[in-house]
Amino acid sequence: MAKVVCVLYDDPISGYPATYARDGLPKIDRYPGGQTVPTPQELDFQPGVLLGSISGELGLRKFLETHDHRLVVTSDKDGPHSVFERELTDADIVISQPFWPAYLTAERIAKAPKLKLAITAGIGSDHVDLQAASDRGITVAEVTYSNSISVSEHAVMMILALVRNYIPSYQWIVKGGWNIADCVARSYDVEGMHVGTVAAGRIGLAILRRLKPFDVHLHYFDRQRLPEALEKELNVVWHPTLEDMVKVCDVVTINAPLHPQTENLFNQALIAKMKRGAYIVNTARAKICNRDAIVQALESGQLAGYAGDVWFPQPPPNDHPWRTMPHHGMTPHISGTSLSAQARYAAGTREILECWFEGRPIRDEYLIVDKGRLAGAGAHSYSAGNVTGGSEEASKFKKTT
Ligand code: NDP
Repeated sequence: MAKVVCVLYDDPISGYPATYARDGLPKIDRYPGGQTVPTPQELDFQPGVLLGSISGELGLRKFLETHDHRLVVTSDKDGPHSVFERELTDADIVISQPFWPAYLTAERIAKAPKLKLAITAGIGSDHVDLQAASDRGITVAEVTYSNSISVSEHAVMMILALVRNYIPSYQWIVKGGWNIADCVARSYDVEGMHVGTVAAGRIGLAILRRLKPFDVHLHYFDRQRLPEALEKELNVVWHPTLEDMVKVCDVVTINAPLHPQTENLFNQALIAKMKRGAYIVNTARAKICNRDAIVQALESGQLAGYAGDVWFPQPPPNDHPWRTMPHHGMTPHISGTSLSAQARYAAGTREILECWFEGRPIRDEYLIVDKGRLAGAGAHSYSAGNVTGGSEEASKFKKTT
């Protein structure tokens, strides 16, 4: 029998939904490139329902209890007196989502002697101290590709929203106004702009593909080049350094994982090298950008806008400066947890658990850390180390409703 502790975000304030806006989800069998969507032996949920909040339980309770495992679900994850920290002490498996991350710091790992498996229901396992997990022989796995396309759609939406000044224009309507000049004094067309992605992995490449029909000039920076034929098809220019790319871009979208090599990449010095009035859209991880440098650049006009859905820590303190900085289009961390994405990463979590309990190998592309080292997708995309420092600040957040 295993004890599984699953940390999920709270239900909607109006309660767990009884009905939904739509009756189902489009059926998708494969991701671009051919990887199959998760293939668990069974599913105990209807795709399209809310699975990522505590009452949704990722659709796992029946499966786990039928096999005599114990499931504890909580949203209380921060601080030494949290339910998570209490339940962790004899947990075998932890499941967490990047949207509401249960930070697995070295200190917490040390308090969990039985912990053997940490699953990220989604993509991005930087909330786990990967060095400490490697040292302790804990396997870390995530559901690679499950929400990459979801995020690419969100990033394109945010680029358009910032450049066209959508959010302030919408707010004028809600306030009862018809202030056309106020709206358009900061509104441009994306057509003809130079748009660059930091990393052209699953998300970065999907953004490039989606932006091509907008007749923009495409750029990318990545450690590895895309195949030549693909560069030609997208008419995308590779830059050998990040500096080289940001100097020519009107819009930069960030799509690299957070690990020691990418932490604080967008600091004051790099932002100063960008074109005046450039936009940054960051749906990857907040710590890739320097918090205060972003605020200063928006205030000075060096950046015309910043949007994204990723913060550090999560949830951010109520007085986090990104809530109130000018010209931002921030949302809570939602791009990878649409109902469509939830169905895929809940199925992927179940697939990983089925493999684990039956002693079958977890798909290589789902592995981040295994057998004491970076493995699978983790060996490609991460560097060893820890980026959870400062996560204890998440306990400063106070619910306002
Ligand atoms: P992929 O693994 O497909 O792509 C990551 C890319 O980043 C790879 O091409 C990798 O290069 C590149 N990369 C890694 N380190 C560097 C570096 N130092 N410099 C330049 N490029 C680098 O992942 P996805 O595209 O699916 O996801 C990317 C990230 O987006 C996730 O790790 C996560 O943090 C974030 N994300 C956010 C979500 C949200 O809801 N907001 C949801 C899903 C993901 P290489 O070819 O060398 O491996």
